[in-house]
Amino acid sequence: MAERKTGTVVHKELITPGLMRFRLAPEGESQFPDYEAGQYIALRRDDCKLTRKTGVGQDGKSIYEPEYDPWGRQTVGPVTHFYSIASAPFDTREHGWLEFVVALEDGVHGLPGRLSEALFGMGQETGCELTYHNRIAGDFTLDTRVQDAQSVLMVGTGTGVAPFVSMVKELAARSDGSDGRRYTLVHTNRTALELAYQDALFEIEAAGRFDFMYVPTISRPAQDVAIDERIGQGRASNVVRHIYGLPTAEEDKQTNAKSDVSRVAAELALTRLVHPVLPRHVHVSDLRERVAPVSSVLLTCGNPASLADLRSTAARREIRFELEEW
Ligand SMILES: Cc1cc2nc3c(=O)[nH]c(=O)nc-3n(C[C@H](O)[C@H](O)[C@H](O)COP(=O)(O)OP(=O)(O)OC[C@H]3O[C@@H](n4cnc5c(N)ncnc54)[C@H](O)[C@@H]3O)c2cc1C
Repeated sequence: MAERKTGTVVHKELITPGLMRFRLAPEGESQFPDYEAGQYIALRRDDCKLTRKTGVGQDGKSIYEPEYDPWGRQTVGPVTHFYSIASAPFDTREHGWLEFVVALEDGVHGLPGRLSEALFGMGQETGCELTYHNRIAGDFTLDTRVQDAQSVLMVGTGTGVAPFVSMVKELAARSDGSDGRRYTLVHTNRTALELAYQDALFEIEAAGRFDFMYVPTISRPAQDVAIDERIGQGRASNVVRHIYGLPTAEEDKQTNAKSDVSRVAAELALTRLVHPVLPRHVHVSDLRERVAPVSSVLLTCGNPASLADLRSTAARREIRFELEEW
C-alpha cells in the first residue's frame, strides 16, 4: 500500500451544483509522483457520512443504508476512492497541483455519495485537507491503449472526460504535430454548462498544434436556452452510432421488440429520445472518414450504460475498443 499523505485543496470551483473542479497541492514540500495522462490516484476524506450493506435487491445489487450510531446520528468516517487526473503532467511539473473534476454522486436512498459529498463540502469549516495515496496508477494511457492506430476516437461521458482532458492538454503542450495521428474527442454531458472543459478544448482545437477535433454534445437540451451551434445534441452512445451510420439504441430496441410490452416500452423511449445532432461545423461524412474503423481505436471512459452501448457499436463496426472502467 502506498504511503498516505495529506495535501491541500488550493482551488475549488463549483461548475454546477452537482459538478466541481478542484486542484490539490501535495503535502508540505513534497511533489506528486510523475504520471502519464490518463492515470488516476486514490483520494480520501475522513468526514464522510457512512453507509452499511443491509441486503441484496431483486436485481442482485447490494442495498446500502445510512449507518447510525446509538444516538441516531449518521456515522462519520473515512472513504477512499480513485479519481482520474484531469490536469496534464506538464501542468503538475509547472504548478505542483493535480486537478480533478468530480460529480456529486446520487447515492443510496436519495442521499449523496459518501466521498463526493465530503469533497463538495470541503471549505473553511470542514477544512481543505485531502488525504491521497502517494501512488499514481493505471494503464489507460495513449502509449498503452493506442498502439498502431492512426486515428484515436475518445468518448467521454460526464466526468469520464477527465483522462482525455489530460491527454489532449499534454498533446497540445508537447506536440509539433509529427505523430501524424488524428485525435477526436466526443464529450457528452447533460447540459452545456456541464461540458466542463469546453473553453480549453475549443482553444486547443483552434490552435491546431496537432490534428484534434472536439465534438461536444448535450443530452438534455432545454427548449428555452439559446443553442450554441458549436455544441451538438444526443447521448454519446447515440452520437457515436450516428457517426458510424447506425440507428439509435432506442430505434434498435423498437425494431427488435419481440413482445407488445417491449414494443410499448421502446415507443415510449422513442418519444423521449434526443436525436443525435453533430455541432453545426462538423459534417458526418468527414467525421466518419476521420474515424474510419480500419485505422481507429475507440477509447472510452464514464457512464457504465453508455460504455456497454459503445462496446456494442465498436463490435458491430469492428473497431478496436479500449475502456477505462469506473
Ligand atoms: C479509475 C477510476 C477513476 C475515477 N475517476 C473519477 C473522476 O475523475 N470523477 C468522478 O466524479 N468519479 C470518478 N470515479 C468514481 C469515484 O471513484 C467514486 O466512485 C464516485 O465519486 C462515487 O463515490 P462516493 O463515495 O461519492 O459514492 P458512494 O457512497 O461510494 O456510492 C456509490 C455507490 O457505491 C455503493 N455504496 C454505497 N455505500 C457503500 C458501502 N458502504 N460500501 C460499498 N459500496 C457502497 C452504492 O451502490 C452507491 O450507489 C473514478 C473511479 C475509478 C475506478
